[in-house]
Amino acid sequence: MNPRILYEVCPLCSSKAIAATKTADCTRHPLYRTELPPVMTWMTCNACGHVFTDGYFTAQAQAEIFNHTHEHQKLGADIEKQRLVAARMVDKVLAYKREGTWLDVGFGNGSLLFTAQEYGFTPVGLDLRPENVEMLNAIGIEAYCADLAQVSLGKKCDVISMADVLEHMPYPVQGLKAAARLLSDDGVLLISMPNADSMLWRVLDVTNANPYWGELEHYHNFGRKRLYALLNQNGFEPVQYGVSERYRACMEVVVKKKA
Ligand SMILES: [Zn+2]
Repeated sequence: MNPRILYEVCPLCSSKAIAATKTADCTRHPLYRTELPPVMTWMTCNACGHVFTDGYFTAQAQAEIFNHTHEHQKLGADIEKQRLVAARMVDKVLAYKREGTWLDVGFGNGSLLFTAQEYGFTPVGLDLRPENVEMLNAIGIEAYCADLAQVSLGKKCDVISMADVLEHMPYPVQGLKAAARLLSDDGVLLISMPNADSMLWRVLDVTNANPYWGELEHYHNFGRKRLYALLNQNGFEPVQYGVSERYRACMEVVVKKKA
């Protein structure tokens, strides 16, 4: 049985004009299991140019993968270095928002929430890995093990960070709609992911060293251009571009709701 549910249309623009354009070996990925296919197939949408995998994992396959956690995704991993990386992320937000509730979607090792708390924000975490959520609750930080699309907090957030999250979602538009619902009207959205429009991405491609084609947990390869268009279509306005220090070739964009 195929562990992936195949996309019949483009997951961003719903065009049927999609075709397979690339395959990649994913057997060296640390979360690879022999029950999964050894090859990932990437599609391109001829209507909007989006690049995505041929399908997303079933709940069962997803659970298999989530049974295992990368070392760097464990709460408190590499806390001293990650604090510095997170501080530079918080600094980007400060020009637009200096206090309030900070929701981090997919908080992983927790470094961004710990650092936002240091700066005076009230941290709230969301993650799909139950052990991370339990540990965060145990140290007194509000956290939920829930899907972004389903969560309700009873208050609007002043900042929502989605660091390396949208490319993991089968339908990123659902994630953006949920963020719009949870964010205050003058709130800030901080989004990071690899930038397939960057020269670095092209260099990684031509040297056959691009890790993202075999990245089991990703369903999408965005470039800055396609991301900006998607944000605009969903009521958001990117206000500041930057590079991300979290992972290779990544961008980090500060976004506001359109007035
Ligand atoms: Zn499309």
